[in-house]
Amino acid sequence: MEFTVDTDARTQVVDVTDRVAGAVPSDATGICTVFVRHTTAGVVVNEAESRLLDDVAAFLGEAVADEGWRHDDLDGNADSHLRALLLGPSATIPVVDGRLDLGTWQSVLLVECDGPRSRRVTVTVTRSA
Ligand code: ZN
Repeated sequence: MEFTVDTDARTQVVDVTDRVAGAVPSDATGICTVFVRHTTAGVVVNEAESRLLDDVAAFLGEAVADEGWRHDDLDGNADSHLRALLLGPSATIPVVDGRLDLGTWQSVLLVECDGPRSRRVTVTVTRSA
């Protein structure tokens, strides 16, 4: 299953937990893989507290310099690729009886590193035997 997220800032964290949960069959037990099919966005599991989401964006901005990278000669977005590299393109979440078995403070977050863009997120549920 797949859904689309439209972002509206260069670096932005979007809580996609409800959309991922909605893609999990109600009778499934196993693992859910959330994957973003892009090289300048990432998927992580963390707390969706609004100030923390701003901190994540600020942290990524400080962790990777905006300019001075070789890939910028091609399309000017090396910083976006490198920020996404820190995050990874997927997260794996246990599924129990059709619900995401997340901790109390855990949410599934799509992290845009080169927005605004339209992002395709793939949700795959693998059932345990
Ligand atoms: Zn590029």
